[in-house]
Amino acid sequence: AQQQGRGQYQFYSPEISAQLQERLALENELYGAIERGEMCVYYQPLIDLQTQQVIALEALVRWQHPTRGLVSPAKFIPIAESNDLIQSLGEWVLRTACAQTRAWQLAGLHPVRISVNLSARQFEQPNLVDIVKQILEETELAAPYLELEVTESALMVDIEQSIEILGQLRDLGIVLALDDFGTGYSSLNYLTRFPVNMLKIDRSFVQDIMSNPNSAAVTDAIIALSQSLCLTVTAEGIETQEQLDYLQSRGCHEAQGFYFSRPAPAAMITEMLKNKSQK
Ligand code: C2E
Ligand code: CA
Ligand code: CA
Ligand code: CA
Repeated sequence: AQQQGRGQYQFYSPEISAQLQERLALENELYGAIERGEMCVYYQPLIDLQTQQVIALEALVRWQHPTRGLVSPAKFIPIAESNDLIQSLGEWVLRTACAQTRAWQLAGLHPVRISVNLSARQFEQPNLVDIVKQILEETELAAPYLELEVTESALMVDIEQSIEILGQLRDLGIVLALDDFGTGYSSLNYLTRFPVNMLKIDRSFVQDIMSNPNSAAVTDAIIALSQSLCLTVTAEGIETQEQLDYLQSRGCHEAQGFYFSRPAPAAMITEMLKNKSQK
């Protein structure tokens, strides 16, 4: 808005106004999007680099907007996080992904872990552990098949509480991963106190692993660190055979990226798992 009167402030700029309007429109349209059936979950395979088998799937939410088309989570997750929408959306993704994974198991397909992203705001929810527990019971998915991905920055908001919640989730038998590892204000000091099972090397390092020695060095260090702390290490964003060969030669355990598969709707994953089960 344009500040008039004293006139020191001039907030108005056509671009900012357009951006704000777009954001406000999206925020409005986000209300009720789940109920209107506009949200859906895509799944991206993670490959076990020892066996070359699909070992897990990451659940990635998509918004099929009636007029805007497919809206990227990079666009609407931050909006959902700025109000309470992220809680219901996060819970819906978790329930949908667990139910789908259980359905694949019941259909006799090659069993995989399902990995679900948790936003920092969900992590602040006092009843998060109860919600997760309830969804596992409701969907009859065994806890070791569920992986929750959190970022370091989400954990750093309240470190002591994070340690407590992670401990409770781990006691349920859930797999815990630190997502986008290396991009946050990683404190190696806290890393040993967070009861996590996995580190996911951020895509930004993998992306230029072959061209930037610094990215390669960071990647090597994260893999070495994981090995000494007995953590499983995953690399995301693999797009080329060279990147895969590099990570494999360094002893990385799991890999995910367009090289293997883009995130895909459940029906396509069903076909993929069926082909796997026949082999
Ligand atoms: P993320 O958790 O780091 O997820 C990985 C992102 O990298 C996904 O983008 C995926 O499509 C993309 N990706 C995977 N492999 C490649 C590759 O080889 N090359 C490139 N260029 N990209 C690759 P997506 O699905 O657009 O999601 C973006 C972010 O939105 C996610 O980043 C995550 O932070 C957030 N997000 C997505 N779904 C959820 C959700 O259900 N809950 C929450 N809280 N956040 C979510
Ligand atoms: Ca993730
Ligand atoms: Ca990530
Ligand atoms: Ca990311």
